[in-house]
Amino acid sequence: MSTEYDYVIVGAGSAGCVLANRLSAEEGVSVALIEAGGADDKTEIRIPAGFKKLFKTSCDWNFSTVPQAEMDGRRLYWPRGRVLGGSSSMNA
Ligand SMILES: Cc1cc2nc3c(=O)[nH]c(=O)nc-3n(C[C@H](O)[C@H](O)[C@H](O)COP(=O)(O)OP(=O)(O)OC[C@H]3O[C@@H](n4cnc5c(N)ncnc54)[C@H](O)[C@@H]3O)c2cc1C
Repeated sequence: MSTEYDYVIVGAGSAGCVLANRLSAEEGVSVALIEAGGADDKTEIRIPAGFKKLFKTSCDWNFSTVPQAEMDGRRLYWPRGRVLGGSSSMNA
């Protein structure tokens, strides 16, 4: 069995959710929104001051930069949301 959509959006972050909402508002248009992360049901997502508690959890891609020459070659921790809402679910 195959399912077809008019639009497939990869990533249910800030941009993907807005796009899915706008596209699906048109009658007869089908949209699939695919997200790598899970549900946005953690308490810290609802509490603005709780965003740091989401760092390095299952809600975070836990990226690092490449070594930064201007910082003595150090890599910086670079949080990015991996959850419904994307980085907007863990931003400040
Ligand atoms: C800690 C933190 C604090 C911030 N503070 C602020 C602030 O105070 N003010 C402000 O304006 N902005 C802030 N930002 C930035 C803001 O949140 C982002 O710029 C914005 O959310 C980016 O939107 P986006 O749609 O480009 O990406 P995202 O919202 O990151 O969405 C990308 C989505 O795609 C998903 N994805 C990626 N790859 C795949 C794949 N292969 N398959 C399926 N899904 C995939 C991800 O899991 C994610 O859900 C902050 C960000 C962080 C992380």
